[in-house]
Amino acid sequence: MILLRFGELTLKGKNRNVFENRVMSHISETLAPYPRIKFTKAFGRCYLELNGEPYEDVAEKLKTVFGLVSFSPVRKAPLDLQAIREAALSEMRRLPQPPRTFKVSARRADKTFPYSSMELNHLIGGYLLKHTPGLKVDVHQPEVELHAEVRQEGAFVYCETIPGLGGYPRGSNGKAMLMLSGGIDSPVAGWLAMRKGLLLEAVHFHSFPYTSERAQQKVIDLTRKLAIYGGSIKLHMVPFTDIQVKLNEHKMKHLLITLMRRAMFAITEKLALKHDAGGIVTGESLGQVASQTLASLHVIGREVRLPVLRPLIAMDKSEIIKIAEKIDTYATSILPYEDCCTLFVPKSPSTKPNLRITETIERRLLWLPDMLNLAVERTETLTIGGNETDFRKNEQLF
Ligand code: ATP
Ligand code: MG
Repeated sequence: MILLRFGELTLKGKNRNVFENRVMSHISETLAPYPRIKFTKAFGRCYLELNGEPYEDVAEKLKTVFGLVSFSPVRKAPLDLQAIREAALSEMRRLPQPPRTFKVSARRADKTFPYSSMELNHLIGGYLLKHTPGLKVDVHQPEVELHAEVRQEGAFVYCETIPGLGGYPRGSNGKAMLMLSGGIDSPVAGWLAMRKGLLLEAVHFHSFPYTSERAQQKVIDLTRKLAIYGGSIKLHMVPFTDIQVKLNEHKMKHLLITLMRRAMFAITEKLALKHDAGGIVTGESLGQVASQTLASLHVIGREVRLPVLRPLIAMDKSEIIKIAEKIDTYATSILPYEDCCTLFVPKSPSTKPNLRITETIERRLLWLPDMLNLAVERTETLTIGGNETDFRKNEQLF
């Protein structure tokens, strides 16, 4: 069996139930390929009964579920001392690293069982010591704590706790549009937003034929990686070439990036309203490039009214890369295909754009509003990844 633990620590009462049910629904969807798995809820705890399904594969899947804080493989033994001892020994032997020190924490919930918790600690501990050369007891800082819970329906033994992703259940905080480039940052920003319970739709601006089809494929691949966690994700491919070319004709070269990014935000907001999304997520990080100074963030952000979420705003690049590696987007992100922003980069972009001047210039671009709408009209939408086809609801819980 697998014992599941849910977050957040601050959840109480009814909220906790809603939270757990949402995570369980995500788990049952994720584990649809393993039909023999059964869910049981007992004494306020949730278990998966594997019924012969492969533990390792199931564990890998559980590591993609938001809202799950940790889980433990648990062996259920009959209510018999020797059976409990043997279950404990086989659980200790399953550990990837044999521990040097351990302690037993037994709990007798079923008071009809003939041994008390203290007695069980000794009876199980002694057995493990006898059968494991070199193992020692350390009650203060053991490398491994072996738990044995004796209940009416059996004894539950476990000693391994595997961290989950934590965060909020998928989709529990509404939907946002992720501005997804082919770079390192935006996929990480999207993942962090999803971990906070946001459903995502992705928006990508391409400058075909200046940017290649392979650059588009890269964004599709990144979206697929995110879909492992988020379920299927809609990817909106926005043709941005015409707007970029026209903006590039303007003589105010140092404002080009600012104007370009405002155009991107404007289009993203239109798409958000069209698809019922309540916010915009970007991979911006303070100070990283000219368009990510406080002044630039201000002038660019003022283009839209929806909240702009920037999960990476205070993170260092090395921290961002660490997450990119963990969620397996890094190798794809560093493939050297050109992004639309790198095409028309002026020599010295302004790090301190002025809102009033920018807005005045923009107002004179009489062609711009129509072209923003045209870009939205010409946007192509793909649905990427997820296992929505074999979605299975679990009758026992809902
Ligand atoms: P990233 O690594 O995410 O590409 P970056 O460090 O290259 O970010 P910028 O190019 O200034 O920074 O982009 C900042 C943010 O703007 C990106 O994180 C992304 O959210 C959005 N963005 C940039 N280019 C595109 C694009 N072609 N399509 C969609 N969003 C984009
Ligand atoms: Mg980029």
